[in-house]
Amino acid sequence: MLDNAFPDFTTPELRRSIDRTTEEQATAIRAEIGRREAAAPETADERLARVKRTPVGLLTDEEISLLDPDGQAFAARYKARVAREAACPGHERVSTSTREESNRGQHKGECRHCGKNMSWDSSD
Ligand SMILES: [Zn+2]
Repeated sequence: MLDNAFPDFTTPELRRSIDRTTEEQATAIRAEIGRREAAAPETADERLARVKRTPVGLLTDEEISLLDPDGQAFAARYKARVAREAACPGHERVSTSTREESNRGQHKGECRHCGKNMSWDSSD
């Protein structure tokens, strides 16, 4: 009976209803953010604090420009890495562990094309 506990996402009707709900929720959230922003606009300090605690992948270019030089350099490297990995024709792992590291369960590796970190660790 476990199978019946999960909705069947394969039917077009259900998929459409999920898309609609998600879009409605997203619209509601955007509207609420707009209302709060209009009621109490962020101060420059609040904005900087928010930008600093937001994952860099979610920041706009304008928000990144508020970071200190180290933060901006980090953001630039992050964006370059994401673009490089996204353009990869297909990740192919090559091991970069020494035999000793492998024996300890540290299986370092990276993609031969884009350099994506493909390490895994089986040590306990
Ligand atoms: Zn790759």
